[in-house]
Amino acid sequence: MIIAVDGPSGSGKSSISKEIAKKLNIQYLDTGAMYRLLALYLEENSLEFSKEVLKDFNIKQSGETFYLNGVDVSKKIRTNDISKKASDISKIKEVREYMVDLQRKISKSHSVILDGRDISTVVFPNADFKIFLTASVEVRAKRRFLQDKTLSYDKILEDIQKRDYQDMNRKNSPLRIAKGATVIDTSQMTKEQVIQKIISLVKGGQNAL
Ligand code: C5P
Repeated sequence: MIIAVDGPSGSGKSSISKEIAKKLNIQYLDTGAMYRLLALYLEENSLEFSKEVLKDFNIKQSGETFYLNGVDVSKKIRTNDISKKASDISKIKEVREYMVDLQRKISKSHSVILDGRDISTVVFPNADFKIFLTASVEVRAKRRFLQDKTLSYDKILEDIQKRDYQDMNRKNSPLRIAKGATVIDTSQMTKEQVIQKIISLVKGGQNAL
């Protein structure tokens, strides 16, 4: 079973997908983290992207821990700077091809919930469940601000707006609502309500699989 979750930054995709994975006892794959890991790798080694670079790029997700060439970089990939860089490199066609291929390989033999921007449009257009999570940009910025108060709310709002624009307007795999996706606006919902809604969708739909 594949559950594909897409949506803009701060819509709650990762925290919600993580919980659903636990409840359903399936794997969770954070595809945004994969782009972040590549952005960090390029930055730490002062490299521009080329296919060559991928030869020494090894990543692993173990629960909530992310490894880059064997080193735990879970915190380092969450900075504002890496968020921007991940969005920049995610426009590159070869980067996307590499990530999509890896995501399909990882999800080949078992049930997985993946979250990202192109999961239900490109990676798994035939996923068993396709969810598009969204929320107003102000709500999303507020959630990020409450998580990390090192930046002002206004700066976070501005960065999210820029990233939204970039992710929705890029040529390769822009963020879109996939055909047949269930759209959930989480602006007025608690995390638990969103989780329950998705779980009931899955439980209800599983009978038809
Ligand atoms: O989801 P997260 O904010 O961690 O993703 C970081 C960036 O990686 C996004 O802004 C987006 O540009 C890119 N991304 C993507 N496709 C995905 C997941 C993330 O292009 N499936």
